[in-house]
Amino acid sequence: MAFFIFSTTAIAQETGQRDNRTMLAKVQSLDLESVREGVVVHYKPGYKERAEKLGPLLNDAIQFFKKELGITQQFHLALVDSLDWIQISSSPYGLPHVSGMNDEDPPVAVLPVSGEGTVYDFMVSLDNNFSKNLRQRIQNTGYSWEEISGTMVDLVSLHELGHVYKNAYGIGEPALWFNEFMANYFSYLYMFQQRPELAEIWDITGHAIQEGFEPQYHTLEDFEKRYVKVGVGNYAWYQSAFEMKANPLVEKYGLSFVKRMKEVFPNGVGKIASEKVLEELETNYPGFQEWAQVFKRQ
Ligand SMILES: [Zn+2]
Repeated sequence: MAFFIFSTTAIAQETGQRDNRTMLAKVQSLDLESVREGVVVHYKPGYKERAEKLGPLLNDAIQFFKKELGITQQFHLALVDSLDWIQISSSPYGLPHVSGMNDEDPPVAVLPVSGEGTVYDFMVSLDNNFSKNLRQRIQNTGYSWEEISGTMVDLVSLHELGHVYKNAYGIGEPALWFNEFMANYFSYLYMFQQRPELAEIWDITGHAIQEGFEPQYHTLEDFEKRYVKVGVGNYAWYQSAFEMKANPLVEKYGLSFVKRMKEVFPNGVGKIASEKVLEELETNYPGFQEWAQVFKRQ
């Protein structure tokens, strides 16, 4: 421990490994207020406005999935500032994540207290040399790039909710990238069908990362091996690549793709080599192999 004394992040990582409490217990140990509308939002005092914006959005998504999938799901969102963040998370501040998957360990998504932090900083730092088409789409939203970047951080809460539904519905995890791809599928499914203006912002941010970021790591094998350790920008790039496949599939197949995935990769399926996962997807939905070329480029 003494070796880590000058680094608060390292201390958090060190203690995080030994902290066996559920994420909900950790969040409840912070001095936060909460609002409850189906979804319980825990928030730093002073950020009630954001809590009251994201709570109803998530609640609406939960109603949507209840209707479509017949699943009643509890969910917590914690809006945490940078000081509280290191008490409960070993990820960089502002990189949202979710943990807890059952009644004893309820799912809690952790987000930065406002549209800020490492993902936000990455988004606003993207080279603004976007294509004409993308610049036009950004302009059509009526929002600045900074506002879109902040909204994107908000919308990652729906991606985290997507992880919860993927598991609750009974779809397995043959690969980490498939897990992330499916979380994006679920979140975009809700946005596309219920909140098209948010779907447009989400899709714009995916295209922006694809256009504006040159990844160091780009293979599915690298993603499986390093996961979030590829770095925030590179991780966001992988996520955007998954969105580029998930979004058009949602628009074409909607819920039926989700149902098929439950048959193809049921819960407990275990790890499968990425090549095999792609072959299986290609058999059911031709076009996956072509899409996967983005992970093979030199
Ligand atoms: Zn995820």
